[in-house]
Amino acid sequence: MDTAGKVIKCKAAVAWEPNKPMVIEEIEVAPPQANEVRVKIVATSVCHSDLYHLYEGMHKDGFPVVLGHEAAGIVESVGPGVTEFKPGDKVMPVFLAQCRECDFCKSPKTNQCIKTWTDVRRESLTGVDSRLSCKGKKILLFGGNGTFSEYTVVKQNRLAKIHPDAPLDKVCPLGCGIFTGYGSAVNIAKVEEGSSCAVFGLGAVGLAAVMGCKAAGAKRIIAVDTNPEKFDKAKIFGATDFVNPKDHSKPIEEVLVEMTNGGVDFSLECVGNPAVVESALHSTIQAWGVCVIVGVDQFKKFSARSVDFTTGRSMKGALLGGFKSKDGLTEMVQRYMDKKIMVEEFITHNMGLDQIMEAVDLMQKAKCVRVVLTPSPLKV
Ligand code: NAD
Ligand code: ZN
Ligand code: ZN
Repeated sequence: MDTAGKVIKCKAAVAWEPNKPMVIEEIEVAPPQANEVRVKIVATSVCHSDLYHLYEGMHKDGFPVVLGHEAAGIVESVGPGVTEFKPGDKVMPVFLAQCRECDFCKSPKTNQCIKTWTDVRRESLTGVDSRLSCKGKKILLFGGNGTFSEYTVVKQNRLAKIHPDAPLDKVCPLGCGIFTGYGSAVNIAKVEEGSSCAVFGLGAVGLAAVMGCKAAGAKRIIAVDTNPEKFDKAKIFGATDFVNPKDHSKPIEEVLVEMTNGGVDFSLECVGNPAVVESALHSTIQAWGVCVIVGVDQFKKFSARSVDFTTGRSMKGALLGGFKSKDGLTEMVQRYMDKKIMVEEFITHNMGLDQIMEAVDLMQKAKCVRVVLTPSPLKV
């Protein structure tokens, strides 16, 4: 059935309000407008940032919303002005836009796009406009993506075209978690050959950071997590040492400094907890250590003294691992197709979209790495 130009009725997980479970609803997805693409989502996975929006950020202007920003799908139809995509293309939505024309997009110093700065509101992390509605109400798109749905409509500057043979149910966690963690080690920390690294938090982001440290030639990679069940996975990605802060009575940074005779060269915080940021900073060697903040938190502060940096340390942060969003994602899928990076190893569970709250529960309990959800056709 040709659906182009028509409103599509389909299933989506709607978060009506903060701190309440998402509800599977029948929604209406209007046709794409100028520079927009309607995408049939084939697979989508849950990232901690989705949970952050629902349970931690809880911004009053960020609801009702369709969460989800790690996904892979197929172009169903395109709006006027779309030149880069055609129906049938395999694509992945991405949280950050890339227009390729503005000063930021042309600069190698950032992966932010200044031209589209206001398309997604920074405080509420939702797109300013949406083609999704339910029960007569407009439903916002998290990060301008909104992939916990059978169909979504995204701007072409937030969509990456991927290899036509890419298995969509496998590559979807690349869209944020793997991309972010790997890039944070390689592009932002710029981990060096023979170095020592510590990665705090072994979700998909942290495990991908471990994979990035290994790819960059790190000699020692210390994996830190409060859930020791994550250590077997970390080993697969290249971790050499495993530390559970709960096994130690002294601060974890002191344990790491002792283990490495002065501190690691690079540390990456992949939890989203300011107290862990402080530990990550103080785990680095004071003369040249580099600490990268990857985890997200908009509220709590962490503290540091000038002297923590005047001795030579530095601290950095980035979104999506510093990759130019669309180009980087296309390239990372290619790297997976060339068997240069692991992806399937991040997937611990497969479920239907209707089981989304089970996936959320698993993530809250740190019992999964990535849960891949497959939206099934609506039976009407
Ligand atoms: P996740 O929930 O799957 O993993 C978090 C891990 O941290 C879990 O294994 C948990 O056991 C561990 N943990 C919790 N408290 C800890 C502590 N005190 N010390 C050590 N480990 C601890 O999350 P994820 O999807 O991998 O995301 C991780 C973070 O990265 C989140 O804050 C997310 O919002 C953020 N993120 C940032 C970007 C970015 O662009 N910067 C992109 C994606 C995700
Ligand atoms: Zn731009
Ligand atoms: Zn994410």
